[in-house]
Amino acid sequence: MGYVRGLTCRSCAASYPPEALHACEFCFGPLDVEYDYEALRSNVSRASIAAGPFNIWRYADLLPASAAGAVNLGAGFTPLVRADRLGAELGLGELWVKDDTRNPTGSFKDRVVSVALTKARELGLKVAACASTGNLANAVAAHAAQAGMESVVFIPSDLEAVKVLTTAVFGGQVIAVDGNYDDVNRLCSELSGERPDWAFVNVNVRPYYSEGSKTLAFEVAEQLGWTLPDHVVVPIASGCQLTRIDKGFRELVEVGLVEPHPVRISGAQAEGCSPVAKAFADRADAIRPVRPSTIAKSLAIGDPADGWHALEIVRRTGGAIGAVNDDEIIEGIRLLARTEGIFAETAGGVTVATLAKLAAAGLVRDDERVVVYVTGNGLKTVESLVDRVGPTATIAPSLDAAFEALDGLALA
Ligand SMILES: [Zn+2]
Repeated sequence: MGYVRGLTCRSCAASYPPEALHACEFCFGPLDVEYDYEALRSNVSRASIAAGPFNIWRYADLLPASAAGAVNLGAGFTPLVRADRLGAELGLGELWVKDDTRNPTGSFKDRVVSVALTKARELGLKVAACASTGNLANAVAAHAAQAGMESVVFIPSDLEAVKVLTTAVFGGQVIAVDGNYDDVNRLCSELSGERPDWAFVNVNVRPYYSEGSKTLAFEVAEQLGWTLPDHVVVPIASGCQLTRIDKGFRELVEVGLVEPHPVRISGAQAEGCSPVAKAFADRADAIRPVRPSTIAKSLAIGDPADGWHALEIVRRTGGAIGAVNDDEIIEGIRLLARTEGIFAETAGGVTVATLAKLAAAGLVRDDERVVVYVTGNGLKTVESLVDRVGPTATIAPSLDAAFEALDGLALA
């Protein structure tokens, strides 16, 4: 927190103190956290970071809340896995998977919520709240429980049963809304005006919340020996995560922790909710909201708050944005599982399947060092695999039956 200068409007550059604000008073533009990069460059080193805990708080100097008293379930410092078998299938050279299925509640949302609720407590906000497609609900309910805060999460009523159960178990309030995520998000924006002492993590403390995603960039750079990759592939829901990964890489250069190196940033969407991919394909100068219909519910945001910013970053860095259909998403999940032993939720299937598509089109190249972000655990969306995977055979408990079943299989 010591290095935060304040909040700055991304559109008109107006400055604000670091309070519970999320939009510019003049132009309603989004607000970003600004740091004293001069001081960071003098005081933060690879060694000072390496001496920190093995979670996101090792990067506390580059986060907008204090590590002392952090709301912390241990999010972050997840494995960066060298994925040679997946890379070979896709015709890629050096491929890495950032395996964020390993977080406390099974998704990258633990990173952003840890930062958001830490800041919320610093600001004296009493109740943790959010609008969620599921993963955020899990993370808010769990972190609030650990912090002894009350929580109220709002979700679309058609959410996967697993995500509802794995939120409600933490004992907070779960309000299911008959509407899609965009309806739920609008409701929370309205409510946040009526409940000023609640921390709606992705509304009134959004500038702080979003900063948590920078750790996805910090960790990759540190795990690659303090170097930057050539190309990263990131799922797009609101677009926020992609914008913060870009900010994270640029900040590492700014404070002198890595050598400057161009990082191409590509995005992945589900065809059933692909407003940013469509704008990219159409070379459009605006993003047209859509009504989502996809099994990748954690990415089903039809009116993405940071969609335009994400699109600009992809264009600036020379990346691409692809979209994949529901069958391709399932194939993406299975491909990652059978090549690397990592079980991703549908959003991970979107990202892996999009990587495959971009690689086949030559947009991700075999001479690049590539990182694909897998951001949620497959146990959250098992419903998508029902009737798709199951036993190879069901047999009687006898050797004869076993031989009969195994005879037809090409086994060593
Ligand atoms: Zn402004």
